[in-house]
Amino acid sequence: MTEETKDVIIIGGGISAHTAALYTARADLKPLVLSGHDPDQLSLTTMVENFPGFPDGIMGPELVQNARKQAEKFGAEYKGIYVESFEKKEGYFELGAKDKKFRARTIIISTGASARLLGIPGEDKYFGKGVSTCAVCDAALYRKKEVVLVGCGDSAMEEAIALYKFADKITLVHRRDTFRASKIMQNRILELKDKIHIMFDTTVTEVLVDGQFVTGVKLKNLKTGKESEIKADGFFLAIGHIPNTKMFEGKIKLDTAGYIETDKRSHTNIKGVYAAGDCQDHVFRQAITSAATGCQSAIEAERYIENLKATGKY
Ligand code: NDP
Repeated sequence: MTEETKDVIIIGGGISAHTAALYTARADLKPLVLSGHDPDQLSLTTMVENFPGFPDGIMGPELVQNARKQAEKFGAEYKGIYVESFEKKEGYFELGAKDKKFRARTIIISTGASARLLGIPGEDKYFGKGVSTCAVCDAALYRKKEVVLVGCGDSAMEEAIALYKFADKITLVHRRDTFRASKIMQNRILELKDKIHIMFDTTVTEVLVDGQFVTGVKLKNLKTGKESEIKADGFFLAIGHIPNTKMFEGKIKLDTAGYIETDKRSHTNIKGVYAAGDCQDHVFRQAITSAATGCQSAIEAERYIENLKATGKY
């Protein structure tokens, strides 16, 4: 079944989607948000202290729920439907879900990115309870504690620096014996050796827990095969992200890592299709930058619709 053609459909349920919904709703475009079923990244974090306007911080889930409420107040419609396909048609775009199709003149893609996990025991169950993929968000919870961080790219270096401000000991675990991170970031980390210890050629094989909290991790040296355990109050992963863009492969221009390519105004290479948030940003990945690109996409979608009307193509 296909519904009426909407002016704008937003795919996603995170802060960029809600911001795009808020702006397009206030522009009277009556946006439909197909928000999927999975929680967005902010809903998986705890206190957000770096979103302007909240001097005492705000819990991540509360921030996104408030943003959605604000968009709904202005008329944005939400459906917890997971979009599975995208097609460009003559004069509109078609989105396919399980048993429904949706049409829109413009699409804002806010499908986000998922942090890569190791897939080891304890990781999933204790996610948000000692296991984290965002040290920038959660580091303050580990004041004077010991943590383990996996990964050795630029993100891991940034995460280690965020943790350094609070934790007493950070053990950085890397599967090879050379850094992937840029030289400048490596050097920053090497200067912090009073608290940051690096274990090369090592992998984490299990997150150890006591039924309530993370207590440590099991390690394996990949050269010698030797196994060991170390104490940890928190386990952080910074092994990259996977943008949720599979359905756009071959249809919208993606970069080599699968992120949607956009210009400064959040346009993709397809006219009328915009991308916001982490599905198009592997550099900043902050709530505020995500919201900002949601806003940009909405304003550009509004201009596009206005232009269609002005040129008789609506
Ligand atoms: P990267 O892909 O650069 O690094 C991922 C790290 O995780 C690598 O060390 C990799 O190991 C490791 N890894 C991946 N999979 C596994 C696995 N299954 N088990 C163990 N380790 C694993 O990702 P980042 O998120 O760090 O960075 C993404 C991009 O964003 C990069 O281009 C980066 O430069 C950029 N960036 C830039 C920043 C800045 O300039 N300030 C800040 C943050 C990111 P291995 O090295 O062996 O492959």
